[in-house]
Order: sequence, then C-alpha cells, then structure tokens
Amino acid sequence: MITSLHTTRSMITTVAKRWDSQYASYPANHVLRGRKTVGEISTALNELSESATVEDVASIIGNTSWTHLKCSRCNEEPGAVVVLSNDASEFKLCQKCVEEIRWMFSTEKAFPDTEVE
Ligand SMILES: [Zn+2]
Repeated sequence: MITSLHTTRSMITTVAKRWDSQYASYPANHVLRGRKTVGEISTALNELSESATVEDVASIIGNTSWTHLKCSRCNEEPGAVVVLSNDASEFKLCQKCVEEIRWMFSTEKAFPDTEVE
C-alpha cells in the first residue's frame, strides 16, 4: 500500500512523465480521438514551464482528467488529496475527510455509535 500526497501542482509537474508512462507501448504517431498524436502531446507536455496551469495541460490533452483531484469520499475537488493505492485500486481523501476520520478515532466510539457520512 502506497500513501502519498497529491496536489494540483504535483499533478501538473508530473503530467509529462505520467503521460509517457501510460502511452509507452503506443507508437508516437498513434492518433488520439482523431486529433493529436501521442508523440505531439508528449512533446507539448514535456515543454510545459514550471508555472504551467491546469488550463495549459487541458489545452494540450483536451480535458482536465490528468490534473483533477477528486476526493473518493465526498467527491469534492479540494486541490490536494492523500492517495492510498495498491496494484488493484486507488482511494483519494481530502483533508476535510481525513479530519472527520481522525475525529472518529478521537471519540473512541466504535461502530455503530460513530458513523460519519
Ligand atoms: Zn473529501
């Protein structure tokens, strides 16, 4: 189980590396959705500046899915989440949800007395 903090900034700064890893088995001239090639997108992502924005990434890829961070518990997009993952699955928690879970421990009341939704 891997536990790591992901922020919108870290998603932007790692997008080129993640893209290249995800599409490593594709030829560079493979066309995605009839628009850009895998290689064109890789080149553009690798040329992003350190101050690139979510919009900059979206304009290259065509959507925001590579940078957005949605909490698996409350479905909000807070800009930072803790990611718990293994080979089979990935679960993201925002700070608000982590605080609520911490509160469950602090009350020392076990289920069914404590059930936060
Ligand atoms: Zn949450």
